Amino acid sequence: MKFTNHIIINATIGGIICFIINRFLFFENLLIVVASGVLIDIDHVFVEIFKGTLRHPRKVIEYWKSIPNKHTGELYIFHSYEFMFAILVLGLQNKFFLIVLIGLILHFLADGLINYLDTKSFSWLRDYSIIFKIYDHWN
Ligand SMILES: [Zn+2]
Repeated sequence: MKFTNHIIINATIGGIICFIINRFLFFENLLIVVASGVLIDIDHVFVEIFKGTLRHPRKVIEYWKSIPNKHTGELYIFHSYEFMFAILVLGLQNKFFLIVLIGLILHFLADGLINYLDTKSFSWLRDYSIIFKIYDHWN
């Protein structure tokens, strides 16, 4: 999904959730939801580093411009269920991480909608699991 769409979705839906949760910390929480929902995509850079393609930044940027509405099947570590679960566990200790989790979930749902529209199925759900990626790699 496009960067700007993630900002819009996280700002509006996240804003409503933050307002319901705590009206006095509304803007602080909203900032965390929007920031976490946007910064999560830094893992796309990690994938390009892993693939060794960052030596050709123009090609990487062209590739990224071609995929905002497509499901790539790549594993993006911060988009994974396991990462979100780790943030949930941290959130049980510190509310900050629960607010971060809201941003991650909204980002995941927005990407999920794009994946569904692209694949017309829910087969992409498996691609968001580190455990399934490791299992599929060895089998
Ligand atoms: Zn994403």
